[in-house]
Amino acid sequence: MSMTYYINVYGCQMNFHDSEIISGILESEGFSSTEDPESADVILLVSCAVREHAETRVLGRLSHLGGSSRDRESGKPLMVLCGCVAQEHGDSLLERFRDLDLVVGPDCYRDLPRLISESVRMSAVDFREGDYTGIEPVRMEFPRAFVTIMRGCENFCSYCIVPYVRGREHSRKSDAVISEVTALSEGGYGEITLLGQNVNSYHDGDTSFPLLLRKVASAAPCSRIKFVTSHPKDLGMETVEVMASEQNICRYFHLPFQSGSDVILKRMNRGYTAGEYLQRIGMLRDTMPDIVLSTDVIAGFPGESEEDFQKTIDLLEEVRFDNAFLFKYSERSGTAACSFENSVPEEKRLARLNRLQQIQRRITVEKSGELLGRTLRILITGPAKKPRQQAGRTEGNRMVILEETAFTPGSFVNVKITKADGWTHFGEPCGNPEN
Ligand code: SF4
Repeated sequence: MSMTYYINVYGCQMNFHDSEIISGILESEGFSSTEDPESADVILLVSCAVREHAETRVLGRLSHLGGSSRDRESGKPLMVLCGCVAQEHGDSLLERFRDLDLVVGPDCYRDLPRLISESVRMSAVDFREGDYTGIEPVRMEFPRAFVTIMRGCENFCSYCIVPYVRGREHSRKSDAVISEVTALSEGGYGEITLLGQNVNSYHDGDTSFPLLLRKVASAAPCSRIKFVTSHPKDLGMETVEVMASEQNICRYFHLPFQSGSDVILKRMNRGYTAGEYLQRIGMLRDTMPDIVLSTDVIAGFPGESEEDFQKTIDLLEEVRFDNAFLFKYSERSGTAACSFENSVPEEKRLARLNRLQQIQRRITVEKSGELLGRTLRILITGPAKKPRQQAGRTEGNRMVILEETAFTPGSFVNVKITKADGWTHFGEPCGNPEN
């Protein structure tokens, strides 16, 4: 009888896609998935270490699942922790959690079937150069798909744990990326997102990121193409020109700015000034005036004065992003910023975060309101939460709800926006789109 596995994922799109790869590895060896952790032979948690909150959540879930599981004689499931927390803490997790059987880092997923069958308590967390080319991921979000183009990061932003848990930056072969993209497009995937910690520094021989992007756009002419994450210091005009000239690359850009203060950006080791960041935004908007912009911001980084924080507010107000992912600074042990003096008290970090959230909420609502009455092309993604409704996404990633169930997931429909509620919109199918 084949073994069943239950998988639960925390964190970013990279982790989400890693869980699809893990499922692909297991299913190619005869495992089948289950939604019920109580009946699973193997429970896998794919963990995120980027923020303290995500790490605490996954370790809490581990304690809960381990504590509530059956004893070994009555068929206790094998407990496996994968992902960045596994890489960060390795063996020490086996000492801390007696119900945990395996700790497996992001470069060692190919070993999972063997480690599970050997059933020896251990950790596998070495860094390896290879990637997961050749593995067929179990895609969980039709008609949207992710394709990893590079793994690891060497930027060492002073607050970030990623370079320590994901290892050195390495790009996938462009041929492998193109054949995966081609297969997805032929399989009806309407949206393909290229993934990497810093996609702008992709290179495979003479193929740089702009060239890869152009090749991907022509390999998948019926799909929308997106990419995350871009680093402002590495974003050049060539990428912007490719975006502007290829109709199926989404007019959507996620460009983290993190702080509006040059003093704090330097302490963060980000490699750009606020002025240089604004110059990149100008380049995007001058070339594609309708582009949808989103960003990441950290409030309360060590040493952030009221004046520094005001500069972050000023930048948020000046750019008027369509959406922003706002966080309060959280210490990650092992990173440079952990040893910085002048830490901002927790209450002040929270108060600053709340202030940024209020400002961005207003801007998001105002920008969403500007879409009322306009016709946009949306990708139908599937049923909405409520019965007799369908959901779709604009190329700028806004969700649109339709009072219809007639469309096939993966199809594109022109929709007139009739109501806006923050990031969610409501609309009716109609004629040609404006963009
Ligand atoms: S670019 Fe900076 S923030 Fe992004 S993953 Fe690399 S070190 Fe972390």
